[in-house]
Amino acid sequence: MSVLIKNGNIVTAVDSYVADILVDEGKVRTIGTDLAAQADKTIDATGNYVIPGGVDPHTHLDFPFGGTVSSDDFLTGTQAAAFGGTTTIVDFAVQQRGDSLSHALEMWHAKAEGKAAVDYGFHMIILDLPDSRLPELDEMVRQGVTSFKLFMAYPGAVMADDATIFKAMSRSADNGALVCLHAEHGLMIDVLVKAALADGKTAPKYHATTRPPIAEAEATHRAIRMAEVAGAPVYFVHLSCHEALQEVQAARARREHVYAETCPHYLTLDNSMYDQEGFEGAKYVLTPPLREQWHQAELWSGLKRNDLQVVSTDHAAFRFADQKTLGRNDFSKIPNGGPGIEHRLSLLYTKGVMSGLIDLHRMVDVFSTTPAKLFGLFPRKGTIAVGSDADIVVFHPEEETTISAQSHHMNMDYNMYEGMRVKGVPKVVVTRGEVIIEDGVYLGTPGDGRFLKRGTQA
Ligand SMILES: [Zn+2]
Repeated sequence: MSVLIKNGNIVTAVDSYVADILVDEGKVRTIGTDLAAQADKTIDATGNYVIPGGVDPHTHLDFPFGGTVSSDDFLTGTQAAAFGGTTTIVDFAVQQRGDSLSHALEMWHAKAEGKAAVDYGFHMIILDLPDSRLPELDEMVRQGVTSFKLFMAYPGAVMADDATIFKAMSRSADNGALVCLHAEHGLMIDVLVKAALADGKTAPKYHATTRPPIAEAEATHRAIRMAEVAGAPVYFVHLSCHEALQEVQAARARREHVYAETCPHYLTLDNSMYDQEGFEGAKYVLTPPLREQWHQAELWSGLKRNDLQVVSTDHAAFRFADQKTLGRNDFSKIPNGGPGIEHRLSLLYTKGVMSGLIDLHRMVDVFSTTPAKLFGLFPRKGTIAVGSDADIVVFHPEEETTISAQSHHMNMDYNMYEGMRVKGVPKVVVTRGEVIIEDGVYLGTPGDGRFLKRGTQA
């Protein structure tokens, strides 16, 4: 199928111009003014921004956590992503303790097979790494799984010790993979959690008070220093606070290859959400927790200055009615995570661009281009250029909507941004040349999305 997108304002991380785009056989064929080409379908994009489809490098679909499984799977989660203008995700496969990485990868291929609306890749979460398994890291890279995630938090569950982290970093220095870290001082937090519970502090808000910003900053610092010794780049997932950002800034000032993402919820929500009545705060029990409001300005500023390079969602959806309730009498048993895969673009546009905190090019950069670059997908993904995959969003900048669980497409019974007015709507979403969203209707077929064998960093 060929598609002609006429007269849109094409915006990439570096350019902005009005032109037509001819898409054919899944690729961008021609970009020019007044293209006379015939196409199977023509879209009038006058008055719209035409931007590269989003790359969300942090999602948890069909994800086992805390005795339950996240509510969105690869069917519902990727459709919600598409409605929000995201056309590529990188999700997390998880090694089982004592088991091989290739077995985990097989399991996650099976979860996604035939379901996805958009293209997907996998990171591999590593739990343990005896020396005999080190060659498996190289094998993952050969199979297109070119990033590994390790947890510095959740002792007794998924936490990896420092030796394991350092070994993964050292191996990645040779094989070109990128080590991604959940940076929090897990053992210290565990003591704080147990002390809070012993004091009868069981409500959701104590999830936040037992995970202070310094616990995140300490782990960020420690991981940066280990990466320096290993000679490897390092990437911090879901950076939430000024203190951790300062560690990243200091390392980047030393010209270290240190990268970090933040998420829309840290940019737009704060810890007052935990003060809501009853058990409502459980909707915001995600990790790291929401911080005091003043951190938001620091994070936006970090994005603008390139101390932060990516905005991902960390989409991990657990229903309020019957999943979050696992922790009704003990905040430490509330499944951690929040739904957000659908709203990254409209939140970035409304709270970032419309507020003058970042410009349109920077928005495209953190939404699509840099995640594609860091995770080995560029220039196939992350830009609009002749020969790149035709993953394109026609974005209407004036249309306003109200975010609500009543109208969202995630398989979720609540929305963290309930009632928030946002500007900007993805009117048409094209993935590899197929129109899968048009005027609020999903036109694709489950299984359109394919596994992406990713490369190493350029
Ligand atoms: Zn996550």
